[in-house]
Amino acid sequence: MIEAGKPCPLCQSPLAAKRLDEVTGDESPLRVALRELPVLACEAPHRYFVGHGFPIWLLNALSDAELAKIPAGRRQGLVFRKYACGGCGAVLPASGAGTRSFSARLAWKDSPEFGAEISIPVYRCGACGVEQARCAEELAKLLPAALVHAFMAAGLKAPG
Ligand SMILES: [Zn+2]
Ligand SMILES: [Zn+2]
Repeated sequence: MIEAGKPCPLCQSPLAAKRLDEVTGDESPLRVALRELPVLACEAPHRYFVGHGFPIWLLNALSDAELAKIPAGRRQGLVFRKYACGGCGAVLPASGAGTRSFSARLAWKDSPEFGAEISIPVYRCGACGVEQARCAEELAKLLPAALVHAFMAAGLKAPG
């Protein structure tokens, strides 16, 4: 069990609770940013998740709560792909209307709260004017890889 005060499994120096200013991961065109992420780290630093279930919990929390809030269209057509507005069903334009970020505050068990932000290109429906991601399923496929990139960039290891 990895926790503050216990020795680092790699170097035996004591682990302490730390916060990482900003950790980002890109799986184009989706970017995820975690701010003030709580971790356990030794002096080296070797860094560990605050809990064994943390990565899966974070993926589920972001998928269920955050991705679900992002307005999204639907993919249509097997050969010639089109995307339809999730609100009115009109075909979405091929070019994007810029990047939008959706942010949330999350906390794992009794560890400190941190920020999570998902940035994606949005498309504005010409018929009803709603800005949205092209396709919710696409976002759900991109998010796990973006999180893995973020964890690797931060040098975060799974405990034990
Ligand atoms: Zn260490
Ligand atoms: Zn529409």
